[in-house]
Amino acid sequence: MKIVRTIEDMQQQVQELKAQNLSIGFVPTMGFLHEGHMSLMEEAKKHNDIVVISIFVNPLQFGPNEDFDSYPRDFERDEKIAEQLGVDVVFYPSVDQMYPKPLSIKMTVTDRTNVLCGRSRPGHFDGVATVLTKLFHIIQPSRAYFGLKDAQQVAVVDGLINDFNFPIELVPVPTVREEDGLAKSSRNVRLTPEERKEAPNIYKTLQVAKEWIADGERDTNKLTDRLFASLETTISGSIDYLEILSYPELGNIDSVDGKIIIAIAVKYSNVRLIDNIIIDVA
Ligand code: AMP
Repeated sequence: MKIVRTIEDMQQQVQELKAQNLSIGFVPTMGFLHEGHMSLMEEAKKHNDIVVISIFVNPLQFGPNEDFDSYPRDFERDEKIAEQLGVDVVFYPSVDQMYPKPLSIKMTVTDRTNVLCGRSRPGHFDGVATVLTKLFHIIQPSRAYFGLKDAQQVAVVDGLINDFNFPIELVPVPTVREEDGLAKSSRNVRLTPEERKEAPNIYKTLQVAKEWIADGERDTNKLTDRLFASLETTISGSIDYLEILSYPELGNIDSVDGKIIIAIAVKYSNVRLIDNIIIDVA
């Protein structure tokens, strides 16, 4: 497994791989790898000749009061995990390498950002789209793998690939969970023991939503209000949002019908957790 730290070396590697007609599966990450990232890598391994992952905590996608500095990092551990999974190349650039000077052009996401994390984290998806534009150009993958835990990100990346004609197939991968249902996240290590105990209630609430819909409830406002009230009693964190929207459009809907997303974000003392389920309502 190669560790590549500069853009120039990465481009050199990519040229050599392309000359041999090898397909590249790409998994962008911010590191502190867990089973969620691993399932993306395994998926990439199955369908491509070469797997490239990037590990880069991208300052552009963090707001001024967010956790860029305290985001968990452990490159040595990540390296071992990637090696075990048969990753071929880890692209591990520094911030200076990616942004040696302020960018003269940045991406602005204009659709699907007035809801969910886009609304609570202004500029976040602009930062995501900007770094991915760079990474896609540097790595030139055939396929790029993204987790549905960040379902809004998947929708935004779909827009980026289509609007800017990247010849890349977007592959969404289902959310990987702990045994108690909590979605795996690098940030889970920052929950206090009490918060960790109650955090699975987020996923439980999503399951309850599914049951209520199966029982015939279709009114989005009623569902949202009932779910909010129910979640509030089971967690000490504050609910940042609980929304039911069409998917992948992320549009407001009065009644649940067709493919929808139910998404929740909860703020704890040191960490903000997100989770969602996407269901097809007949
Ligand atoms: P991150 O390192 O948090 O930026 O995540 C890198 C990629 O892994 C993104 O595409 C995430 O959606 C995906 N990912 C993170 N957590 C999970 C999870 N629990 N299940 C599946 N994919 C995940």
